[in-house]
Amino acid sequence: MAKIQFFGAAQTVTGSCHMLKFGSRRFILDAGQFQGPWEIEKLNYKGFGFQPSRVDGMILSHGHLDHCGRIPLLQKGGFTGRIYCTPPTVDIASLILLDAAHVLKEEFVWKKRRLTRAGIKVLEPLFSAEDVYYSMELFGPAVSYGKRVEIAPGIGLTFHLNDAGHVLGSSQIVVDYFDRRGKKKKLLYTGDLGDGGRPLVSDPAPPEKDIDVLVMESTYGDRDHKSYDASVEELEEAIISTMKRRGAVLIPTFALERAQEILYHIGMMKKTGKLSKKVPVFLNSPLAINLTRIYEKHCGYCNHDNFGDFKKGDHPFNFPGLHYTETAEESKAIHNVQGPKIVLAGSGMMTGGRIKHHLKHLLWKETTTLIIVGYQAEGTLGRKIIEGAKEVKIFGEPIAVRARVYTINGFSAHADRTNLLNYVKAARPKKLFLVHGEPRAQAALASTIQKVLPRTKVHVPALKESFVI
Ligand SMILES: [Zn+2]
Repeated sequence: MAKIQFFGAAQTVTGSCHMLKFGSRRFILDAGQFQGPWEIEKLNYKGFGFQPSRVDGMILSHGHLDHCGRIPLLQKGGFTGRIYCTPPTVDIASLILLDAAHVLKEEFVWKKRRLTRAGIKVLEPLFSAEDVYYSMELFGPAVSYGKRVEIAPGIGLTFHLNDAGHVLGSSQIVVDYFDRRGKKKKLLYTGDLGDGGRPLVSDPAPPEKDIDVLVMESTYGDRDHKSYDASVEELEEAIISTMKRRGAVLIPTFALERAQEILYHIGMMKKTGKLSKKVPVFLNSPLAINLTRIYEKHCGYCNHDNFGDFKKGDHPFNFPGLHYTETAEESKAIHNVQGPKIVLAGSGMMTGGRIKHHLKHLLWKETTTLIIVGYQAEGTLGRKIIEGAKEVKIFGEPIAVRARVYTINGFSAHADRTNLLNYVKAARPKKLFLVHGEPRAQAALASTIQKVLPRTKVHVPALKESFVI
């Protein structure tokens, strides 16, 4: 009997983890962390709902934390199987998990100092850097796009990966298996699907033909994105007008993909003369710097149209005035750079990281521009600023918001409603499971798909729900 059971990203957008069961063999697609408000995050502490030691193997779609962030918990729970993914994903997951371990440790120390005095028990960090090192030993030889891999000899179970066009190395996972009647079937899990037309990653591969079961993300199931080209234009205008005022541009960025994409556009502005070669650009995030180097290492996985001859240095991250700011001293020294400058720093929602120091120094200046290029969750400093706060607290100090604030929404790395619909229409699956979405977006997408493809059975699975496939 072949079954699928959902252990995360079921009617929510984080915690991706889907189990395929073939008789006594079990395989999981992703083991992501639950992120967001505490009601969601606490699920990380409640166990998987299955015994990791009884899982035979895992296939990882890409290196975002909401897809790989529970791998150390799998390992701690006794999982000894192999983890399969593309070469860039191995490197990205390793950096993302080590950074997460570091953040968890810092949070723990901070909370312990504050809350123990109040008699509140602080939960131990989910995992440590040591757990990450042990977890990385589980990664088997990396799998390139299109290569077929047999993961369970004897039951005819194979898989291969196709480009998902979401972040570097991201994959759609195609699993060929036999159902209980011995009939050959095909399951396709999209992972996170890109929106297409991006400079760094290729467009997502179209879905394969003859799909029996499609497990598809649905983050933007009820919305279309603003045009990408218009967003790039807006970014350029914001930068050019600030340079004319001889001000500073601050761009809080997520370390993976968004930081590199923004760097690409700044590099193009320098190449085409829209921005003076002399303007210093600081990538002030050790994680983003290390991830950028992974793009250089795995340039074969990038969008070939824009990457020229990477090895000869003819690539988008090699432009005059770009500085990688690694140490805290170098980061502080940026405050002394007078005149126009551009600073990219984490964290993306301004909740921590080096961006907060820059905001403290520059947010109160009228010549400064703050460009927000990513989603800002409720309760974050970023959300307060885009909602028009006149003053915010940074490191306990009130700081006036006098900078010009741009919110540019078109840089999403997820397929929008139209692209998801086109994808599912091309796949024409017999069964469709919508995962990785909020209930409202999923309900809207499910009802539209049901009208367009009346013969497809559409499910929006709940956590731990199980289906025969
Ligand atoms: Zn993702």
